[in-house]
Amino acid sequence: MIEAVLTRLRAGERLHQQIVDGRRQWWFDEPFEDVPDAVVVRIRATGEFALKEAGDSLFGLPENSQTWGGVDVSDRIPCINPRCRRTAAQDKFPDSHEIICGKCFRALPAAFRAEHRRCWREINKLERRILRTADPLKAQRMRDICNEWVDRLNVGWAEIRQSIEQPDKPAGLETFLEEIGL
Ligand SMILES: [Zn+2]
Repeated sequence: MIEAVLTRLRAGERLHQQIVDGRRQWWFDEPFEDVPDAVVVRIRATGEFALKEAGDSLFGLPENSQTWGGVDVSDRIPCINPRCRRTAAQDKFPDSHEIICGKCFRALPAAFRAEHRRCWREINKLERRILRTADPLKAQRMRDICNEWVDRLNVGWAEIRQSIEQPDKPAGLETFLEEIGL
């Protein structure tokens, strides 16, 4: 039951809640599915899914929202560590749909952190130079180099996510760095 509910939540579906005689009733629509309160309590307790309320309760009372779901119903982005319940404000990271919190980042192997920081350093440096240059050809060349760093950042990010989701598997960063000759 819990797995079925998690699957629907992860697919972006929303849970509905109403409180009848002080008891919480939960369900999905289309297809309709009753969800026992104990299942929701358990999901929230284990932190397997960052269930958030939309804030659409009649009197704005916390925990009373009619709609609950993942990041879409709130303006928070979850940490990529599924065992971590920290989130970041969406308006601080307008282009991101996932983040890694400071605590999980510091727990990563040093090589991941160094690679991630290096990519961001190069991207920021190039962005500043692109803004400063008046030569469109030069700007285009720097934009191309910047895009390569963005690609490299994304590869590193995928490695970070994999090492967090499957901590037992050997990290692929070393292999990747070897392949690109570092
Ligand atoms: Zn975290």
